[in-house]
Amino acid sequence: MEVMSSNFIHTFIDEDIAEGGAYYGKKVHTRFPPEPNGYLHIGHAKAVFVNFGTAQKYNGLCNLRMDDTNPTKEDVEYVDAIKEDISWLGFDWDDRFYFASDYFEQMYDYAVELIKKGLAYVCELNGEQMREYRGDLNTPAKSPYRDRPIEESLDLFKRMREGEFEDGKMTLRAKIDLASGNFNMRDPVLYRINHMRHHRTGSKWCIYPMYDFAHPIEDAIEGITHSLCTLEFEAHRPLYDWVVENISAPSKPRQIEFARLGINNTVMSKRKLRQLVEENYVDGWDDPRMPTIRGLRRRGYTPAAIRSFTDQIGVSKVNSTVEYGFLEHCLRDDLNETAARAMAVLDPIKLVITNYPEGKTEEFEVENHPNHPEMGTRKVTFSRELYIESTDFMEEPIKKYQRLYPGNEVRIKSAYIVKCTGCEKDENGKVTAVYAEYDPETRGGNTPDGRKVRGTIHWVNAEDCVDAEVRLYDNLFTVSDPDGEDGEFTDYINPDSLVVLKNCKLETSLKNADKTDRFQFMRQGYFCVDLKDSSAKHLVFNRAVNLRDSFKKK
Ligand code: ATP
Ligand code: MG
Repeated sequence: MEVMSSNFIHTFIDEDIAEGGAYYGKKVHTRFPPEPNGYLHIGHAKAVFVNFGTAQKYNGLCNLRMDDTNPTKEDVEYVDAIKEDISWLGFDWDDRFYFASDYFEQMYDYAVELIKKGLAYVCELNGEQMREYRGDLNTPAKSPYRDRPIEESLDLFKRMREGEFEDGKMTLRAKIDLASGNFNMRDPVLYRINHMRHHRTGSKWCIYPMYDFAHPIEDAIEGITHSLCTLEFEAHRPLYDWVVENISAPSKPRQIEFARLGINNTVMSKRKLRQLVEENYVDGWDDPRMPTIRGLRRRGYTPAAIRSFTDQIGVSKVNSTVEYGFLEHCLRDDLNETAARAMAVLDPIKLVITNYPEGKTEEFEVENHPNHPEMGTRKVTFSRELYIESTDFMEEPIKKYQRLYPGNEVRIKSAYIVKCTGCEKDENGKVTAVYAEYDPETRGGNTPDGRKVRGTIHWVNAEDCVDAEVRLYDNLFTVSDPDGEDGEFTDYINPDSLVVLKNCKLETSLKNADKTDRFQFMRQGYFCVDLKDSSAKHLVFNRAVNLRDSFKKK
């Protein structure tokens, strides 16, 4: 696999592993810690890439850890999906798969250790009082319970665990600095009471650790050297370091923050993605318009394209929004090299070659890729009746139109040159068939006399083509930042984000297309078989991306 491009995180790591550095002589060890409350999206792909890619670059290790300290909404379905998506992206955690909830007992012990050291205490302020006593930049917070005797806190904390108190009645707080300019350090809550079942520990616990306390402990237990997370945790780093310093942790990980990925014309928060699914705006988490990994996969994205995207956008300290067009650009870049070419007619009309013998069929051997002979060839058949795109004929051509119109010659890709002789229309004047005569001297589409034929069109043989449904996609939202507009983000859903074409005709070789294959349908874009709805009886193809690259390289 390609090696990740260098970034500022690597500069820090280089210092840390150099002689005299904090991790000199140690293996670089990172982790990816998703909360199993939804499916991974392209933003997570960036974090996956940063963590696994960095470990790879340093010949180190990266753990996969379900950050399931919060008892709400976690689900086995999500756990399995997250593993599958990361594997599909091409990363491997080997046997280092963990659940943060497996460390609850150790976390509890570390909390007790802090109480014993006089660094944590049980507080009886409720949420409202806590906010009231928080102070402001010029006024320190107030905490009437912070000087309670160690023995009393130890006793109360134990009874909190045993379920003696109801939700919200007490918390365990760190004793740090009520006057700190960083509010995260004003005696932050470490544990809260929550009588709620946990998807793995059941009803064993009724107190749960806060993220800021749990995360550094998880990292320390696993021997993580570099805990790479997104920028919103920057102001929490002093607390992260405080926890690591003050517990008898087996190792001292370093937290480094990087910018979140945002992409325009979509939303990225799991809550909003869930809303799109639950309110049926889309066909599930894997709807090809969703920015989820499985949505992108079903749309036709490849792991290589996503990895290339996450590498090229880079890693920085400044949040920014990337154009959707750049993601598409990365996909085109990959598929242009790797996708087999094929012909498909999306809006068919018959083309009858009136001077071609009835009942005759010819075969043409065509290459699967113009620049990659190793991708082989396939057979395409030709007979008297073909299907072509209805837009490839105009009875009265507009200016510069170079395709079929009466009297004009056009190349039927890889087959023959034909000259249009007219068309047939129904009572409403709608064209029902186009007529042409072929030139038998032009087999393969060449003109032995060197005459110029400008237009080349794709086609399929009416005799053996296969029927298919083809789905075309556009942005899910009509505005660049649906979150930043007035009203609900769902008000900005693009009603034309899905166009279903039911009557498409594909060349016969596509009948056996594999679900992992990608194709370039000539002149139409890149397509794949729909993972969910396609069957031998009813073929369904998705357009992953069109051919036109709107993304201008900066
Ligand atoms: P969301 O806000 O979408 O629910 P989250 O941050 O709560 O996301 P987690 O499951 O906690 O989701 O995320 C796992 C990891 O992925 C975290 O380290 C988080 O920082 C990272 N991550 C999440 N979203 C992005 C993003 N848009 N860009 C980069 N990293 C992200
Ligand atoms: Mg989170």
